[in-house]
Amino acid sequence: MRYVTLTIDGKKAVVPASYTILQAAEEVGIEIPALCYDPDLEIVGACRLCLVEIEGNPKLHTSCSMAVTDGMVVHTESEKVVHARKMVLQLLLDNHPNDCLTCQKAGECLLQKYAYMYDVKFREHDGAYKPEYTDTSSPYILKDEAKCILCHKCVRICEQVADRQVLTFANRGFETKVAFDADMSIEESSCVSCNRCVTICPVGALLDKRLMGKTRIWDGEVTEFKCKSCEYGCDFEVLSKNGKNVAVRAKSPGEGRPLCLKGRLTSEFLNLDDPETPYIKEDGKFIEASWEKALEIEGILDKLDKMDSKDAEQC
Ligand code: SF4
Ligand code: SF4
Ligand code: SF4
Repeated sequence: MRYVTLTIDGKKAVVPASYTILQAAEEVGIEIPALCYDPDLEIVGACRLCLVEIEGNPKLHTSCSMAVTDGMVVHTESEKVVHARKMVLQLLLDNHPNDCLTCQKAGECLLQKYAYMYDVKFREHDGAYKPEYTDTSSPYILKDEAKCILCHKCVRICEQVADRQVLTFANRGFETKVAFDADMSIEESSCVSCNRCVTICPVGALLDKRLMGKTRIWDGEVTEFKCKSCEYGCDFEVLSKNGKNVAVRAKSPGEGRPLCLKGRLTSEFLNLDDPETPYIKEDGKFIEASWEKALEIEGILDKLDKMDSKDAEQC
């Protein structure tokens, strides 16, 4: 493997030649803010927050897509970079509801984190605001369109699973939004409620509905565990408050790990002190279901019942 040597914020980095600047920075402990980048997704360079300055180059470049070269000298927090970053964040906030006080994502939201880091605030303006629309049709996912920053992460992660590919972008320009199938409600769409998209959304535009109102991230404890439903062992978290396990959520699907509703419900059943009623989809509608039906163990329980009756007859 070929390596290159570059300097980032005065630190020497020796990294594979295939690395991007953002990856090289991570290697030497420098965090470059980014809203649309994720190491497990294809690069789109959509948010423009990861801009950096490269000596000898008058333009700023997106560090998530720019490959490293030998001898490169990079500045990730120069005056020019910080100015550009503040502008990107201000434009996002100008088009975003001022809802951090009650938003379920507060404390984990990347937009909130970077606005704080760069001291960018919500402000009054006369321009247009994104139309407000909240899709509450699913018992598992809430979509809040006004909070979407169009980072593409949800679309890219959903399309990684061949038989899902539910999410697309609908409309154009200012009207652009994330759509479930051909702009259906979540309930009507072919979404299987795996929550992959929820785990990766950097803001509160896609939320885990079963978690909402139960606890804030800073209010309790988070314990990671692996789902025991199948051999993939997807990563989940249980959130506890006042010594009670109040919610389970999917954490991060790794490579080859699809996440699924059955795994999530099994995890809730096994870990929660007071699990909420499960819902399953029948004929395109969410309906309340028994735990036996939701976990697909009705057949096993019937068989056990029959075996018990047989044993009783033989006694
Ligand atoms: S999505 Fe983030 S920035 Fe927007 S209201 Fe929620 S916490 Fe605040
Ligand atoms: S929950 Fe799963 S299937 Fe549904 S849109 Fe999100 S990633 Fe796609
Ligand atoms: S819904 Fe979330 S993940 Fe999807 S594009 Fe909007 S902000 Fe990004």
